[in-house]
Amino acid sequence: MLLSCDPNDKEGSMNLLEDLTRNANQAQQQILEEILTQNAHSEYLNGFLGGCSGKELFKKKVPIVNYEDIKPYIERVANGEPSEIISAKPISELLTSSGTSGGQPKMMPSTAEDLDRKTFLYNLLVPVMNQYVDGLDQGKGMYLLFTKPEISTPSGLMARPVLTSYYKSSNFRNRPFNRYNVYTSPDETILCSDNKQSMYCQLLCGLVQRDEVLRVGAVFSSAFLRAIKFLEDHWKELCSNIRKGHVSDWITDTSCRNAVSMILKQPNSELANLIESKCNGKSWEGIIRKLWPRTKYVEVIVTGSMAQYIPTLEFYSNGLPLVSTMYASSECYFGINLKPLCKPCDVSYTLLPNMGYFEFLPLERSHGEATQGSIQCNGASDPNCLRKNGENVVEEAVDLVEVKLGHYYELVVTTFTGLYRYRVGDILKVTGFHNNAPQFRFVHRRNVVLSIDTDKTNEEDLLNAVTQAKLHLDPLGCLLTEYTSYPDTSSIPGHYVLFWELQVRGKSDLPELDPSIMERCCTTVEESLDSVYRRCRSKDKSIGPLEIRVVKHGTFDALMDFCVSQGSSVNQYKTPRCIKSEEAIEILDTRVVGSFLSKKAPFWEPFRIEAK
Ligand code: AMP
Repeated sequence: MLLSCDPNDKEGSMNLLEDLTRNANQAQQQILEEILTQNAHSEYLNGFLGGCSGKELFKKKVPIVNYEDIKPYIERVANGEPSEIISAKPISELLTSSGTSGGQPKMMPSTAEDLDRKTFLYNLLVPVMNQYVDGLDQGKGMYLLFTKPEISTPSGLMARPVLTSYYKSSNFRNRPFNRYNVYTSPDETILCSDNKQSMYCQLLCGLVQRDEVLRVGAVFSSAFLRAIKFLEDHWKELCSNIRKGHVSDWITDTSCRNAVSMILKQPNSELANLIESKCNGKSWEGIIRKLWPRTKYVEVIVTGSMAQYIPTLEFYSNGLPLVSTMYASSECYFGINLKPLCKPCDVSYTLLPNMGYFEFLPLERSHGEATQGSIQCNGASDPNCLRKNGENVVEEAVDLVEVKLGHYYELVVTTFTGLYRYRVGDILKVTGFHNNAPQFRFVHRRNVVLSIDTDKTNEEDLLNAVTQAKLHLDPLGCLLTEYTSYPDTSSIPGHYVLFWELQVRGKSDLPELDPSIMERCCTTVEESLDSVYRRCRSKDKSIGPLEIRVVKHGTFDALMDFCVSQGSSVNQYKTPRCIKSEEAIEILDTRVVGSFLSKKAPFWEPFRIEAK
């Protein structure tokens, strides 16, 4: 069921969407049937179904799995065994996810055909947006998009992030709505592998074409804010380039340089002066409107962990709508926001029933939603989202059209590319229906406690990193008695903050804090975190140096008192490993006796898949 959608045909596309959502169940059944018929003889499915392709049997026999269960199959494909192990269609590449396994990115199989499925979703976003905002074809979009390193597996398959794969595809280059050059960033600047040159050139092109820009954005809010920070650091140089009509010499990527020169064309001191006057103003509040005065909205994902950036985005954009258009992953693209201009807190995604076969594991909501946001630990210990009968009960997964309004679920996906009943790890809440297709609010990712950019640190990763780091305290006879954390996004880039309560063995005094040892602790935490964190921190520089704030004796008792006052049970109280509540952070912050920052970025290199 490979549908195509012409983004320039508003009526046709909207009719298609209506049909799809009205016939959500039929579409889902058809998708499952196609996947099973195509792949019944793959080694994986055959092992459970013995070559049959019945839907009932599939639900009965094929287990709901995590990445660790299918990793051996994916590694075999990466090492050169035929795709048929998992997929009848040839696996054309592996998509490296920001979720990690054993410290390295998870790899999701993909096929050539899958690009067309993604393109369908991208195309559908255009008519949906055009329903709400007129005249977008009268100007350009300044979208800051980036590619990341790719590696070759022992079998010669490419392993790279899903967006890099899409931006490098002919589907992206030939996107129909780009026919009239509706974006300010030339493809060459997006494809430039040096992120700094890419960023500089995209901003330069965006500034030169400022009068034409009607919308700005990036994929995630973190990337967009990084661009604003980059602009704060580089606007003088950018203005000088505009004044002279000459791109800085350090832009050495030839195709990038040529593409930008075509746009910069000639010296323009009037424009340079104007931009300079805006950037030189007293405050950068509302700078987006000042620099790109015709902008109608900012398109960035502000749901999930990206919600932490909403206040900063609002500061820079001064009332412009923040638009989250889609919900997708390396495993599968899921759905779109049919009300793109709604407030960030009201964003729901309608899952498109032709993207994959979706199932939902119900979660029990033990506390009311009202408790969210008080002491919210955005992870496994979130009291609002507990699996009904423990983590491994699988028989209760329900179909897309069976989910109930107001209920919470974990998403499970079966794809055309070799994933069968795979737990994505996202927790969603049903907020409504469009025809028969349910709409979901993204609640959080299962077991993620800290996230600044695309990093997803879970409790176990954090515990492991803290355990490594606290070894430095041993020679001092010093103990780490409690810890928690929070993502500090008050500056750009954001950084991880750990609160540590320390004690001299056998005493309740606070030990003398040796800055060099504490800094070593910070570095060791960073070195022990997974490769996505280390890449963001060392290569992309989208995460700042990790900070440890040492708090005085008794601070964690005060935190517990606060949690209990907010409704936590004393018997069941566990220190939250991540704090979201401002009040709780204040309790910790007012008791800080020393704060230390990592002085050295951790080692990172693109991962390798060793041939077996
Ligand atoms: P990756 O596979 O690295 O692309 O990461 C995909 C994950 O990013 C999803 O499973 C979600 O946890 C998160 N994500 C993607 N889109 C959204 C969105 N619109 N809102 C919140 N989280 C999202």
